[in-house]
This record gives sequence, C-alpha cells and structure tokens, in this order.
Amino acid sequence: MKLPSMTKLALHWRILLGMAAGVVFAALLIQFEWGKDFIVNWIKPFGTIFINLLKLIAIPLILGSLITGIADLNNITQLSKMGLRTILIYIGTTVIAVSVGLAIVNVIRPGTAVTEETRTKLITSYEKQAGDRIVAAEKQRQSGPLKPLEDLVPENIIGAASSNANMLQVIVFAIFFGIGLILIPPEKAAPVKGFFSGLNEVVLKMIDLIMLAAPFGVFALLAAIIAEAPGTDLFIALLWYALSVVSGLALIYFFYVFLVWTFTGKSPSFFLKGIAPAQLLAFSTSSSAATLPVTMERVTEHLGVDDDVASFVLPIGATVNMDGTSLYQAVAAVFIAQTFGMDLSFGVQLGIIVTATLASIGSAAVPGAGMVMLVIVLAQAGIPEVGLALIFAIDRPLDMCRTTINVTGDATVSMIIAKMLGRLGEPVEQKWDDRLDEVI
Ligand code: ASP
Repeated sequence: MKLPSMTKLALHWRILLGMAAGVVFAALLIQFEWGKDFIVNWIKPFGTIFINLLKLIAIPLILGSLITGIADLNNITQLSKMGLRTILIYIGTTVIAVSVGLAIVNVIRPGTAVTEETRTKLITSYEKQAGDRIVAAEKQRQSGPLKPLEDLVPENIIGAASSNANMLQVIVFAIFFGIGLILIPPEKAAPVKGFFSGLNEVVLKMIDLIMLAAPFGVFALLAAIIAEAPGTDLFIALLWYALSVVSGLALIYFFYVFLVWTFTGKSPSFFLKGIAPAQLLAFSTSSSAATLPVTMERVTEHLGVDDDVASFVLPIGATVNMDGTSLYQAVAAVFIAQTFGMDLSFGVQLGIIVTATLASIGSAAVPGAGMVMLVIVLAQAGIPEVGLALIFAIDRPLDMCRTTINVTGDATVSMIIAKMLGRLGEPVEQKWDDRLDEVI
C-alpha cells in the first residue's frame, strides 16, 4: 500500500511537528474568549485517550516481557547478576543527580532573587494546592520504615494488576513467576513460555498501532497544557529557580550521553536518534509509566539492547529510577529554604542527598508525583512545607523536563547493563515505513 508522504518523516520529527502545532494552535485559540473551553472540551480528551492507550498496555507489557525475559535467562545467577548491577547503577546515577542539583542551587542561589512580596503572593495564590499535596504526603510519612518493602509483595495479583500505581508489585510477581518457570521441567514450561511470549508480541504490535496516533496525541496534550497554563507574572519570579532545575537536568543529559559513549562506544547521535520519540512522549505526557511501552520499543529495536535485559531494567527503572525528579527535589528544597532566608548546613544538605534519593525512588511515575514526595524531603530538612506553594506555578513545565531525563536515564542504564552482560547488539531497527506497511 502506498503511504502518504507524511509517514516518510522520521517518527521523532512527526511527533515534534505535532507538539509545535499543538502549541501554536492553542496560543492562537486562547486569544478568543471561547478558545480555552473549546480546547478543554474538544481537544484535550484526545490527549487523555492517547495517554490512556499507553497506560492500558503497561501491565500486560510488564507481564509478557518480564516473564518471557526471565524465563529466557535460563538460570538464576544471571538474574541476580543483572539485578544487583541494575540497582547499584540506578542508585549511583541518582546520587550523582542529587549532588549536581545541590551544587547548582548553591551556586545560582535562586531563592535570593524572590522578594518578600512575591513570596507572600505565591504562598497565598497556591496555598490550597500545596495543602493537598502535603495531605497526600502525610499518609506516606505516617507509615513505618519498612512499609515500602512490605508494599512490594501484593496479597493478590489480580488486585495488584488492577491499578497502574501498583506496577512494582506486578514486577515482583512477574520476576517470581519467571523464576518458577525456570525451575520446572522444560516440557512443562514450554506452553506457558509460549503464551507469554505471544502476549509480548501482541502488546508490541499494539504499541506500533498507538504510535501511529502519537503526533495527534501530543498535539492534543500540548494544546491542553498551553490552554490551562496559569498566568505568566508569577512565572517570571521563578525564572532563576526554573533555570537552576533546567541547567541541572541539561548537565545530567550530557552525563548520560557521555556514559553511553564511554561504556558502549555508541555515538551521541545514535543514542539520541534512537531514544528521541520516547523522550518527546515523556515530555508531552509527564509520565515515565505512560512512556514505558515506547521506551521498551525504542531501546530494543533502535538501540540494540537485548529484549531480556530491557524487559528487566526498564520497568524497574520507570518506577524507581528518577534522576530528573531527585535533582529537582534537591534544587526545590534548597530554593524554598533560601526564599525563607534559611541557611542550610552541610550536614542538612548531605541529609537531602539521602532523602531526595529515597523520595525519588518512592515517587510514582505519574505527573506531579515528585512534588508530593518533595514534602518528605522538606520535612526531613526542617524546611517549611508550606513552601511548596512557592514552586507550584511552574511545576508542570519542570515536570515535563524532569520526566524526559527520568526516561533517558533508564535507557542509558539499560544500554550499560546490556553491554556489561554482552547483550548489546546491533539494532534490529525496522524502518518506520515498513512497520506502517505491516500495520495498515
Ligand atoms: N512525572 C515524573 C515521572 O513520571 C515524576 C515526577 O517527578 O513527578 O517520571
């Protein structure tokens, strides 16, 4: 079937075009009195449908790919080797990200640029929203120290799989199930493996279908973000803070490119071209979890990471490895302290390294989750929690940026682990046009 010329454009360009068109369209429409309502009522729902489609396949994807991946490893030593390295590298990169954030915020000192008047205005404008986040964090704070560990093991897999918020529980089940599969006689394991491997193929094909709609999905998402953005006056007061977060994230971005280059020998352009569509979706959706299916597809088919490695490293990364979030939490905490005229001692800042690392691990991979967990970082460091109201106005754009870094970090680590285990090959890249031909 002859395809229209639009599909000849590389996927990342088509997504970028969709994003730019969404921004321009919304910027024009909000000039009219009815423009915002029109976008919210008639455009935004398509963005929501797009995100829901991605979320819809997250649990079947984890079950299909992780069970197949672990069963393919064929022995438990390989699994523990991969598991240990993954966790260590994830924690290592997160600690580096927090430290970079702390260094930047101490150099730029964005909090000193906020006047007393702006501070009061920000706090009164966003007190309610901040209060909601503080209440949400309260629940988490009240639980015992081992609660996160306790929460890893679900009492019912159907119950766990019924909510995307329980992704870690589903991961634990899939790993456990995969181990069981390795340990039973091969003739008994074969049909079960066949089923999950088939499930995996179907889900991957569903991702292809969803990606056909990606340019339109991001158009709707970006249009809604612009239409619903708060006014820009308070935005400007937070410019130095935003610049601190963004420059920290940019440094981490270069750090990843450098890591990929030194560990795997793959050039920056190879890496960025391969992962770009996932980054753009992360930016548009502000959700690592919603982006996970696309991250998996890009990393395996375009970056050459073995399926077994990607299916283990990426779902875990999407839920626990959030370098962008941890960096943001460190910058935000110190910024709030600076705005209140507090000087944080070296010891307190060291404490922030620990709490921001843990808080980012505990943050759900959904929009705005990093801000809820920031409450815990503030409380530990003795910084007034009401300060959350100070950063509210600008949180969404920063969430978009930090989610992009979160997803890039997961992809980076998957490449490093694959290289370490001798499972990084050439991409089996199927030309996008061929895929469309297959799909249509
Ligand atoms: N939105 C981020 C993510 O999904 C989490 C956060 O920082 O709010 O990765």
